Amino acid sequence: MAGEEKELKAAIVDAVKLHGHLGPFLVIGVRMGGVAKRVLNQDVRDIARFHVTVRVPSVIPFSCTIDGIQAGTRCTLGNQRLKIENTRKQIFAIFRTENSDRVVQISVNPGVIRKVMRKMSAGMGNDELAEEIAAMPEGQLFTIEKEGAISAVRGW
Ligand SMILES: [Zn+2]
Repeated sequence: MAGEEKELKAAIVDAVKLHGHLGPFLVIGVRMGGVAKRVLNQDVRDIARFHVTVRVPSVIPFSCTIDGIQAGTRCTLGNQRLKIENTRKQIFAIFRTENSDRVVQISVNPGVIRKVMRKMSAGMGNDELAEEIAAMPEGQLFTIEKEGAISAVRGW
C-alpha cells in the first residue's frame, strides 16, 4: 500500500471515531482536508492557523462531510476555525491560512454526488460507497481552485 493510501486509511479510521460510522460523504470530507493541507502546505506545526468554511446541504448524508473535514484538519466548531453554510445541492469548502493570503476552494464534482445518491437509493451500502470514494482519483472527485480568483470573489 502506498504511503498516501495508508495515510488516507488512517485519517478515515480517525474520522469514523468522531463521526460514529463510515460513509461516502465522511470520506469526501477527509479527502477535502487532505487536499487543502497539501495545497496550502499546512503541517502539524502550523495547523492552528488553518481555517475553513464548508458549504453543504444541512441534512444527512451530505452533512457527514463536515465531520470528515473536522477530523482531518482539526478545524472545529468549538475552536472557531470552522464555519458552516447551508447550500441546496453543492458541496464545497474554502480553506485558508491565517497569516497569508493562501486560499483554496475544493468543490465536489456534482456528478460524483449524483452518482453516490443514485447508488445509495439502489441499495449500495455505506462501506462500499466509502471505499469507492476513497479510491476515486482526486481529479474526478474534486475541482480545486487556488487563491487569486477566489479571493476576489469572497472578499478575502
Ligand atoms: Zn455520516
